[in-house]
Amino acid sequence: MKYTLSLLLTLILVSCSTSKKPVSEQTTQNTVTAQEPINQASLVLDIKQSMEYLASDELEGRATGSEGIEKAAVYIENYFKKNGIKPYFETYRDSFKLKDIIGYNVVGVVEGNDPKLKNEFIILGGHYDHIGFGKEVNGDKIANGANDDASGTIAAMEFAKHFAKTKTNKRSILVTLYAAEEMGLKGSAHLAERLKNEGFNAYTMINFEMIGVPRSSDESLSYMSGYERSNFAETLNNYAGEEVVGFFPKAKEYQLFMRSDNFPFFKELQIPAHAISTFDFTNFDYYHHVDDEADKMDYDHMANFIAKMIPALEGMMNAETKEVVLKDE
Ligand SMILES: [Zn+2]
Repeated sequence: MKYTLSLLLTLILVSCSTSKKPVSEQTTQNTVTAQEPINQASLVLDIKQSMEYLASDELEGRATGSEGIEKAAVYIENYFKKNGIKPYFETYRDSFKLKDIIGYNVVGVVEGNDPKLKNEFIILGGHYDHIGFGKEVNGDKIANGANDDASGTIAAMEFAKHFAKTKTNKRSILVTLYAAEEMGLKGSAHLAERLKNEGFNAYTMINFEMIGVPRSSDESLSYMSGYERSNFAETLNNYAGEEVVGFFPKAKEYQLFMRSDNFPFFKELQIPAHAISTFDFTNFDYYHHVDDEADKMDYDHMANFIAKMIPALEGMMNAETKEVVLKDE
């Protein structure tokens, strides 16, 4: 996510209000298969393990083109292999050139279990790059990027792992982790264009951005950028049977919809493609700061967010028809 400092300071000084929306009964039911409840304790351990590595000083803030991001890519590839998430292309890497550096998105697939619906894809993403070094504070120069966006990266990895294990998704999942987001959404733009040129059959896209800390309790668990552009949020809430994704006025005011890796997919593929976040400018002071560290993350919150999103995602993967649609502008 790209913000000017002054904008950020204004945002921090402004608090916001969200209205709790009733969940209507429009969408079809029984799209969520009964399965054993998610083991929150082991989910917390899994998240913690990935976060402590991806946001470690060893990876030096995962700048695109650095050794640190190479280590991050290898970690994600091994995680995919270990959890039955297959490469979508020949390898897991979707490489692109940026002046004199090579960037690479990491892309995996969890095939759907329905002979027809498996040809339709739901893209789940996050950016695994960060800025590398930041303004020095007490001798610390490494901008570890725990919340931005190791948290979203880990959420996408955990969703892919869950469905690769349970095989409860009728539609297929493309899990996509982007490089060069901090350089202007370069990785996602490259992949969106490539998929378009290859005639990729995408249904929807969700980008998970900064989900490491909870919003205050009187607000929805998370919010969706570009809320008004489609019926995505309310449809997910109906599948979940509760409000997991809400409306956040500041997200609209500051056009967050166009500032995150969902936007190239919206532009290139003309599909409902939005970001989901729990960062509301009042709950995290270390944006693009060397103190955006793993120990600032709330693992119980991250596990709760992931567990609550799963029935919503599963509903979308299994609905007979494409119930999530863009609204006319
Ligand atoms: Zn970010």
